[in-house]
Amino acid sequence: MCILKWILVYFLLLKTVYSRIEVPIGAIFDKENGEAKVAFKHAVFRENMYGAKFNLIPIIKNIDATNTYEAEEAVCSMFSEGVVAIFESSSGQFKHTGIVASIANEFGVPHFMNQWTPELPAFKRPFRQFTRNLFPSPSIFSRSLSDLVKDYDWTSFTLIYEDNYALMRLHDVLQYHDTTVGPVMVRQLDENEDQMPMLKEIAKYGETRIILDCSLDRVIPILAQAKKVKLLEEYQNYIITTIDTHTIDFSEIEGNHANITTFRIIDPGSVDAETAVHDWKQDAARKGESTGYSTEKIKTESALIHDAVKVFSSSLRDFSLNAEIELPELDCKEPKKWEQGEVILKILNEKTDEGITSRISFNDNFERNYFVLEIIEYSFAEGLKKIATWDPDKKITMLRTTEEVELKISQSLQNKTLIVTTRTGMPYMRIKPEYDGIPCEGNHCLEGYAYDLIDAISNILGFKYEFRLVAGNKYGSYNKETKKWDGLVKELLDHNADMAICDLTITYMRRSAVDFSAPFMTLGISILYAKPEAEPPNFFAFMDPLSLEVWLYMATAYLIMTVALLILSRMAADDWENPHPCDENPEELENIWNMHNCIWLTVGSIMQQGCDILPKAASTRIALSFWFFFALIIISSYTANLAAFLTMSRMGVSIESADDLAKQTKIKYGAVLGGSTLQFFKDSNFSTYQRMWSAMESMDPSPFVADNKEGIERVLKSKGGYAFLMESSQIEYFSQQNCNLTQVGGQLDSKGYGIALPFNSPWRTLVSHSILKLQENGILLQLKEKWWVENNPGAGECGDDSGGGGDTPELGLDNVGGVFLVLGAGLVVAVIVCIIDFIWNIRQIAIDETITPYEALVRELKFVIDLRQTTKPVGKGLEERSDSSRSSQSSKSDRSLKSAISKESLKTAESEKLDRV
Ligand code: GLU
Repeated sequence: MCILKWILVYFLLLKTVYSRIEVPIGAIFDKENGEAKVAFKHAVFRENMYGAKFNLIPIIKNIDATNTYEAEEAVCSMFSEGVVAIFESSSGQFKHTGIVASIANEFGVPHFMNQWTPELPAFKRPFRQFTRNLFPSPSIFSRSLSDLVKDYDWTSFTLIYEDNYALMRLHDVLQYHDTTVGPVMVRQLDENEDQMPMLKEIAKYGETRIILDCSLDRVIPILAQAKKVKLLEEYQNYIITTIDTHTIDFSEIEGNHANITTFRIIDPGSVDAETAVHDWKQDAARKGESTGYSTEKIKTESALIHDAVKVFSSSLRDFSLNAEIELPELDCKEPKKWEQGEVILKILNEKTDEGITSRISFNDNFERNYFVLEIIEYSFAEGLKKIATWDPDKKITMLRTTEEVELKISQSLQNKTLIVTTRTGMPYMRIKPEYDGIPCEGNHCLEGYAYDLIDAISNILGFKYEFRLVAGNKYGSYNKETKKWDGLVKELLDHNADMAICDLTITYMRRSAVDFSAPFMTLGISILYAKPEAEPPNFFAFMDPLSLEVWLYMATAYLIMTVALLILSRMAADDWENPHPCDENPEELENIWNMHNCIWLTVGSIMQQGCDILPKAASTRIALSFWFFFALIIISSYTANLAAFLTMSRMGVSIESADDLAKQTKIKYGAVLGGSTLQFFKDSNFSTYQRMWSAMESMDPSPFVADNKEGIERVLKSKGGYAFLMESSQIEYFSQQNCNLTQVGGQLDSKGYGIALPFNSPWRTLVSHSILKLQENGILLQLKEKWWVENNPGAGECGDDSGGGGDTPELGLDNVGGVFLVLGAGLVVAVIVCIIDFIWNIRQIAIDETITPYEALVRELKFVIDLRQTTKPVGKGLEERSDSSRSSQSSKSDRSLKSAISKESLKTAESEKLDRV
C-alpha cells in the first residue's frame, strides 16, 4: 500500500514537470550585443526554476537594429513559432525604428524594450498599448537630470551634445534653467573625431561646468581631448548623461583631476544583480571564457532585459493561475490579435516587481514611472563612488555627510602644493627689504599679513603653498569692452593659480567670476586726507584777523578823527571854558582840546579804555559817538576773528565727510584705478557718490592712481589739495606712518577682504572654515597687531590727534608772541621819550637855575633813585614856566603827561562845579 502511495506521488511529480506548457518568447538583439543576451538567457533560466505551469523557451534573433526589413522578418518568423512576447534589446544611443513595436501592437503580442525612446507620436499611446519600455519614462528621466543639475547648483554651464535626442533627454535641464542667473552654452559635437577647436573655445571662455551627452564610445576620446586643452583640471566639473558611463574604463584619462559625475539605473547591491552576475560568471567559467562581469558594471540594457523577462514571467504566472495559456497562432500576412496578450499586460500594469533596476511599475501611459537613479562620482584616486540617489518621490538623497565630503577633500590636500597668486601692497604683501631690486621668485623673498595668513591656513589644512606675484600688480577688474578680467582674478580664471590673496575686496562683480572664502577682514571706504602742514609760527598773528587794507583804513580813520576832533572842538563854543571857575567874569576862555588830548581821547576810546576828559559841545560829542560806535564794531569783529584765526590753523581739515567733498571743487579726490573703491562710486545709485564719480571722471589731471602708495604720496604732496578714497584698513596702517595723514569722516560702506579661488574650487569650504577657526583663536587679531603695529614704522607716534577738529587748540607763544613784541616796543619808545624828556628837563633846569647841566642831572637823578622822596621842591624856572604856560593856554610844556592830565582834570572838575552853581 505504502509503495503504491510513493509510486503515485512520483507519478504526479513527473506529470507536473512534463505537463508544463512550453511558452516561446522571442528576443531580438543588436548583432554586437553580448552581455544583454547572456542576461536574457539567464533571466529565462531563473524564471523557469519557479515551477510554474509553463516553461519559457527563448527564441533569439540577432539583427541590425537599424534595418527595418530585417526586424520585420525576425518578428514574423517569431510569430510563426508562437511567441507570447517579444523582447527587443538594443545598446547605445537610440536607433531602433519602431517597426517591432508597431507589429507587436498590431497583433496584440506583449513587446518589451530596454532603451530610452523619445516622446515621438509613433511611441505614444495608443500605438504602444502592447509595448512596455523598461527604460524610465523620458519625461521623468529628464526631470531626474534636471534635479541633479539643480542640486549641484549649476547656475551656468556648457552642454555638449551629439544629436537632437540628447536635447530631448535634457529637455528639463534646459527648460528649467534660470538664464537670468547664468548663461547656458550649447555646443554640438563635430561629426569627425576632432573636437579640439570646440573644446579650446570652451576652455578660453573659462567654463568649469560641462554636461556631456554623446554615445558611449565617444566619451573617453572627448575627455582625452579635453585633457589636452586643460579642461580636465581640478576645477572642472562634468555631468555625463550618457547611459552606461559607469561601465567605461577611465584609465585612459589617468591623472585627470576633474569632478566627473554620472549615474546608473542599476542597484548593484540588489539580490537580482548579485544572482544574475553570479550566473553569468558561472556560465562563462563553464565555457572557459574570461569575463569582466561585475555588479558595479552591469550594463543598463542587460539589467533592463533581465527585469523585463522577470516582470513578464511574473505576470504570466499570475495569469496562468486562473487561465490556460493559449499560444498565439499568428501570421504576419493575416492581421489578427492575440486575446491573452492584453490580459497579461493588464496584470503586469497592476503589479510592481523588484529587479536589478529596483522597483518596476508602469503608469496609465504604459511608461515606467518609478526607478532609482544612482548618482556616482568618478575620482582618479577612488574610481567610481556612489554619492547620492534620486527617485521620483524623494528626489536627491545625499549618501555622504558634509563632514565626509570635507574629510575627503582635506585628505586630498595633504602635501599638495597650491599656487597662491598675490600682489605687493603693504601691509599685506611686500618683497623683503633685503631683496629690494633683486628679482623675487618663490616664498623666501616675500612677507606680509597675507603671507602669514596663508601660512596659518596651510598649517591647519596641511597643504604646501607657493606664492606668485601677479604681472602688473593689479587686483582684478573687468573690462567691459574686451570682456576680460585682469590681475589676480585673471590668474584664477586661467587656472594659473589655486588661490589669490591680498587686500582683495569681495565684490558682486568678482563673485560672478571667482569664488571667495569667508572674509578675513572687514572694512569700509573712507577718505584719506592730509592735515595741512603747520604754518611757520607767525609772531604777528594778531594782525591776521584784519587785512592790511583794513589796518591802513583804520589808521587813516584814526588820524582824520583826531584832526576832526581838534577842529570841531576849537570851533564849538561849548568847548571853550572858563579856566578859573571861581572867576565869574574871566578875561579869557580856555580850550583843552589840543592835539595831545585829541590823540589821547581817540586812542583811549578805540582801545576801549576811555579818557578822563571828554568834549562838551554837541558837535564834538556827536563826532565822538560815531567814533565810539566805529570802535565798538571794529573791536568786536577783531576779537571774534582773532579767536577763529588762531584756532583755525590748528584745526586744519576743512572737510568732514564725503558730502563736503562732493560739494566743493577746490579739493580734488580719487581712488585706485581698477579697484573696488572706484567701482563702488561707478555703480552707486546714491546721488552724492554719483556726483563724486562724475566729478572724478571730469577732473584734469586724472585723480586716479595705480595703487595706494601713489595715492598717499599724492595726498601728502598736494598739502590739502587732494583727498584719497581708500579702504579704512589701509588708512589705519598708513596714517600711523605719517601723522599728517588722517581719516576724514566715517566709512561709506562695509565690506570684507577674502581669499579668491576659482569657481567650484574644492578647497573653498575648508579655507573658509580655517579662516573662521583663526578668527576664533584670535590669530587673525595677532596677525593684525603684528603688521599694523609691531611691523609698522611709526606706529603709535602720532598720539591720538586724529586731526578731525575735535580737540581744543591751545595758543602757544608762537601765536601771540607778536603782542609781547609790540608791548616791548611800546615800552622802549616810552623809555626813549622819557629819557629825551628827562634830558630836556635837565637842560631847562640848568638854564633856569644857572647851574651846570651836570649838577642839574645829579640832583634830578637823586630824586629819581631815592624812592622815599615823593615830593620835590619847585624850581624857579619851573614855576615861571608853569605860570607862563597857564597864561598863554597853549602850553607846550615839557612837564610830564601825568601832571598835565591831573591838572586838566582838576580844572574840568572845577568848571563842572561852577556850571552846577
Ligand atoms: N581692495 C581694493 C580691491 O580689491 C583695492 C583698493 C581700493 O580700491 O581702494 O579692489
